[in-house]
Amino acid sequence: MSIQSINPTNGSVIKSYNEDTDTAVIHKIEQTHNAWLKWSEISFQERLTCLNRLADQLYKERANLANLMAMEMGKPIKDGAAEIDKCAGVCKYYAEHGVNFLKDQLIATEASKSYVSFQPIGVVLAIMPWNFPFWQVFRFLAPALMAGNCGLLKHASNVPGCALAIEQLVKDAGFPDHVFQTLMIGSKGVSQVIAHPYVKAVTLTGSTEAGMKVAAQAGSVLKKTVLELGGSDAYIVLADADLEEATTICANSRLINNGQSCISAKRFILVKEIEKEFTRLFMEKIKQRKLGDPLDTEHDLGPMARADLRDELHQQVIKNIEMGAKCILGGQIPVFKGNHAFYLPTILTGIKKGMPAYSEEMFGPVAAILTAQDTDDAIALANDTQFGLGAAVFTKDGSVGEEIARTKLQAGSCFVNSLVKSDPRLPFGGINQSGYGRELGSFGIHEFVNIKTVYIK
Ligand code: NAP
Repeated sequence: MSIQSINPTNGSVIKSYNEDTDTAVIHKIEQTHNAWLKWSEISFQERLTCLNRLADQLYKERANLANLMAMEMGKPIKDGAAEIDKCAGVCKYYAEHGVNFLKDQLIATEASKSYVSFQPIGVVLAIMPWNFPFWQVFRFLAPALMAGNCGLLKHASNVPGCALAIEQLVKDAGFPDHVFQTLMIGSKGVSQVIAHPYVKAVTLTGSTEAGMKVAAQAGSVLKKTVLELGGSDAYIVLADADLEEATTICANSRLINNGQSCISAKRFILVKEIEKEFTRLFMEKIKQRKLGDPLDTEHDLGPMARADLRDELHQQVIKNIEMGAKCILGGQIPVFKGNHAFYLPTILTGIKKGMPAYSEEMFGPVAAILTAQDTDDAIALANDTQFGLGAAVFTKDGSVGEEIARTKLQAGSCFVNSLVKSDPRLPFGGINQSGYGRELGSFGIHEFVNIKTVYIK
């Protein structure tokens, strides 16, 4: 069996990779476990030195890595470079703060000494998606290595080149052999890895469907999971919002990574007073984006990552229209050379309950506009979803915005007058069908440690 890397700009095969055999997979698990026995005993100072060198390595390779992402999954080259810088940033963040997050916490009891110590747990399996093929891996990997764990990566099958590049970066940064390895396997090969006794926990970033399957397998062998899953983030725009600023932010959010981001704004919930003006400005800003070859720095939007995903999205769009939604922009596959995966930025209005854009994730450059009678109706619409990843509210009244973000919107990250984004300093994760557990910040590094109680009489 082979795993193929296909360029979504034209459908050409970049490279085929042989899948690891079962024996090879078991060998890699054992190697990484053996590496962990030593890595877990290495000082914080040595770990953070390696992480800082990894950041340097990322900066050094930035241009090549951005090129690789453009080729394998269609990310415009300037966005790829920014992704690599963000990865370097998360390495530096945990190098700087990891020791503090992991230091013992004394707790007074009747004992002469009692405290909590954060101990590494071993090999963690990371199952990752293609949309931010470096960032998703690094936001797991940097805290895992700092905490003294080791990692095995099962990356999405369309980005094998990125998976191997990450393995190489870790090697080139001078980490001990095998602390991090890529398993070249498809999703069918995952269950044997989860079941292996040396694999202690699993983190998955991907669709809700994959999360459910992996969590069920991990649960059957009692292994902890962190799940970062899909979302259909609602951005609420209130009557007093600064529409010029809100539409800029909303267009940026919807088109991040060509709309293929878990925390892209997907549902725009507009109170009726500003609906027309918002839609006009929003469409103007979406139209300004240039679609084309991701290797050309002139372009803001590349193809979607795979032609089959583009076709699925197009079917969702058609179904919305058949059910009464109005398509005011795009809604078509453009005519370009080759077997490409391009899709035109699309705006659907009049989205109502029952339509796919109301309840499903639209994972591509398609904005769904819903109209609300008032603020309370907008909040109710925002929360009428199976997901709960991010949400945002736009208003000139800071206290109203904060109250809605803090207490009314049901999601893991709620922003006011800003696009929802991940930041190494802030915890990131969802509720409901968007998953559980947190990455980043101090919360992220504590997900995969033994929170050990030590008590000395
Ligand atoms: P996906 O199809 O769920 O794939 C994600 C990863 O899971 C891939 O490595 C995939 O391997 C693997 N996988 C799929 N089914 C599996 C199974 N039954 N057993 C074991 N592994 C399995 O998702 P995607 O299309 O790559 O990414 C898009 C989704 O990810 C969207 O829903 C998006 O919202 C979500 N996402 C969430 C976050 C977050 O932080 N919450 C971030 C980014 C993306 P193969 O490629 O080999 O199938």
